[in-house]
Amino acid sequence: MAKLLEGKPIAQGLKESLKYQVQCLNIKPVLASIQVGENAGAVSYVKSQRQAAENLGIVYQMYKLADEITKEELVSFIQELNSDTSVHGIIIQMPLPSRIDYKSLSQFILPEKDAEGIHPVNIGKILFGQSKVLPCTPAAVMELLKETGIDLYGKEVVVVGHSEIVGKPLALLLLDKFATVTICHIGTSQAGKLEEHVRQAEVLIVAVGKAGLIKGEWIKDSAVVIDVGINRIGDKIVGDVEFEEAAKRASWITPVPGGVGPLTVVMLMRNVVEAAKL
Ligand code: NAD
Repeated sequence: MAKLLEGKPIAQGLKESLKYQVQCLNIKPVLASIQVGENAGAVSYVKSQRQAAENLGIVYQMYKLADEITKEELVSFIQELNSDTSVHGIIIQMPLPSRIDYKSLSQFILPEKDAEGIHPVNIGKILFGQSKVLPCTPAAVMELLKETGIDLYGKEVVVVGHSEIVGKPLALLLLDKFATVTICHIGTSQAGKLEEHVRQAEVLIVAVGKAGLIKGEWIKDSAVVIDVGINRIGDKIVGDVEFEEAAKRASWITPVPGGVGPLTVVMLMRNVVEAAKL
């Protein structure tokens, strides 16, 4: 039976270290958070970000912009924050109105103030092992893997999902540890090859957003399983992996909720503290 790989205890340790780092700075780091419209989808994220920031001594500045704002106006607002020297980190809350393309917006935040670690320059630096700010979810996954004590060198690691914010940067971080990385995605499934790859995984990381996509019986004995997926089924939240069955085979498995999630917000704060140090 797998050991439960919970995010909260790891998050707690990291928070204490960050709190100390903030106390050692002679300024209060400031995170500017931009929300467009009422954005019900962002409410719980904003709440947990504010709570995490304030507990660490980081100032959380919320900017609620009108629903009808144009992309040009939003870009010029971001540029104002870029040139405001009292602001260290900037985050744009998702989802945005469909007329505004998030991917093209991220490049307008100064790389030095990119709290989410998704600016093309910061993503590019990962390729050279040089990035100080990392995208939050991949960074959270790496912290969870560290906790298991697994040596990734030469391990068969399968990442399911190849998004710009999770799967792709995560693959680069894993390669940096000399893991043998396979990235699966919708094309893999459509070619009927997902099961075959998952069965090989000594470490499996799934970030798709489809409940039950990964069958428990596909999990290799003693594999480490990290489930990034978040799916709302009625009033329950579940991941992408069939938990009960997978837990019988894995050595470690993250719960959903309670695995990756609690660490993601801490990684955001770590990026803000790093930015403030600069
Ligand atoms: P995305 O929609 O940008 O990407 C989904 C990926 O899944 C793509 O690579 C796509 O090719 C792949 N995919 C889709 N259907 C597939 C299938 N049938 N078989 C194999 N691959 C398939 O999603 P994202 O933003 O990367 O998020 C993925 C999931 O992770 C979502 O559930 C999201 O809510 C969750 N998430 C959780 C956290 C957290 O903190 N826990 C953070 C970010 C994302």
